[in-house]
Amino acid sequence: MAIAPYANRYVCDLVAYEPGKPIDETARELGLDPATIVKVASNENPLGPSPLAKEAMRRELENSHIYPDGGGWKLRNAIANKHNVDISNVILGNGSNEIIELLCHSFLNPEAELIAAEHAFVVYKLMATLFGAKYVEVPDPGFVHDLDAMADAITPATRLVFIANPNNPTGTTVGQAEIDRFLARVPDHVVVVFDEAYYEFFDDAPDTLRYVREGKNVCILRTCSKIHGLAALRIGYGFAPAGLAEILQKARQPFNTNAIAQAGALAALEDTAHVARTKAVNAQGLAFYEEAFRQRDLEFVPSVANFILVKVGDGDRVFKEMLKQGVIIRAMRGYKLPDWVRISIGTPDQNARCLEVLDSVLAAAVV
Ligand SMILES: *Cc1c(COP(=O)(O)O)cnc(C)c1O
Repeated sequence: MAIAPYANRYVCDLVAYEPGKPIDETARELGLDPATIVKVASNENPLGPSPLAKEAMRRELENSHIYPDGGGWKLRNAIANKHNVDISNVILGNGSNEIIELLCHSFLNPEAELIAAEHAFVVYKLMATLFGAKYVEVPDPGFVHDLDAMADAITPATRLVFIANPNNPTGTTVGQAEIDRFLARVPDHVVVVFDEAYYEFFDDAPDTLRYVREGKNVCILRTCSKIHGLAALRIGYGFAPAGLAEILQKARQPFNTNAIAQAGALAALEDTAHVARTKAVNAQGLAFYEEAFRQRDLEFVPSVANFILVKVGDGDRVFKEMLKQGVIIRAMRGYKLPDWVRISIGTPDQNARCLEVLDSVLAAAVV
């Protein structure tokens, strides 16, 4: 019997998120050794997990029979101390993606609107759809969020505005002055979400925590998935004024983040050496690609994050052809950028291999 007509329409209508293609799946399909595959598709840390986190997680394995601290006290306390806010301002998520969902759970419904930039992280749109809300997409000339236009788009029905800074997949940023000006225009019925998944890569990142301390209706999202190299663990965190954080806490499951991930995150946040190494490798890789794309006359979007968007013609074709040679990148049709691909910055070896394979695929196109 067809059950779909009885299911929640918003769930059935959802177009599933398409993640970067997994290494094992690719290896199976191509009959290749997984070790030879280069995955530069999901903005993961090419140096691997924080070594300090690995140690802490091994120790924590011994307690796997005990439920985690559902309140995540140790980790939240450490995050609060590090950022000079109160523990009541800190929320943990099963990845920062879960906090995006908690925000939508708390504020969206079929009468509500969510505002985001045209080329913003696609999960915002998926979540708005899931909760039956209206998704309002604001043009972003030059791939940069237009905060004045986003403020203009606010209506009495607006509940959430997402600002990804730096944004994924564009790697572009907005600065302090623009954000200050924007926030001054935001009415009280709107929560502004600063998605700062790539914060640590962004040297001149605006200070958004000050808005939390001032009690503005903002939520800041950070993650251990990117610079800390813990994407598999699914752990992220957020900051919000206590009243807002309390609402989000109510919307989560009692044990939403697991004990291994909490222990790993706690250690990773203190692993300044791993963060520094990662930043250095990333800066070198970004410079490598920018130089290479300039030499080849390929249009790209200058990025401050750990990935770069480059215009290659038929992005789906380039993705498929590179995949055949064991290099996984990301096609951007889902972002309405069919001519572009996004490449995550890897190790120098991975970058060289990726560029070589890209060259061979682009050369094949002209014949
Ligand atoms: C990768 C990413 C995240 C992080 O997701 P997690 O659930 O923490 O792994 C959040 N926002 C953006 C824009 C991202 O690119």
